Amino acid sequence: MADCCSNSSPTPNAHDCPSCGASAKRVGIKTVYHQVRFPENQAIHSGDYYFCPAEACTVAYFSTAGDTVLKQQLRIASNIREGLLCYCFDITEAQYRSTLQAGSAAALKHFVIEQVKAGYCACEITNPSGQCCLAKFKQLEKQTRQDFSRKLKWGPSDFSSEK
Ligand SMILES: [Zn+2]
Repeated sequence: MADCCSNSSPTPNAHDCPSCGASAKRVGIKTVYHQVRFPENQAIHSGDYYFCPAEACTVAYFSTAGDTVLKQQLRIASNIREGLLCYCFDITEAQYRSTLQAGSAAALKHFVIEQVKAGYCACEITNPSGQCCLAKFKQLEKQTRQDFSRKLKWGPSDFSSEK
């Protein structure tokens, strides 16, 4: 398996975002250096950095030492705004959702899995979370299925993630 998609630390630490309270996962310093633009990258110190995944939150990274980097200070700030799902192969959430609805999602996911297997992905560098996107593919599949069944009739579960 490609190294880039395996977690470097066996127990991924999480920290609450100081701005929005979302659970933020730890990212490697290499990811932070590749993501943060100049001149903000001059203020990066070694240490533990965390990525806030909340789209509405302005904070991208924060460190336990009190450093904060905003999402607008990332090189790929516009990609985050677009809702990019796969940073390595430029697939947005909306694009994957529409292939799910069209029934052609399996082929697209297969493409990504094949590239990951071949080692052509670069999640650690391209993805601000530093993580492989395949978990997000699964999340989106589940979410789209739930939305779909809710639309048809009562869904299999009556919990709703958004209030
Ligand atoms: Zn946040």
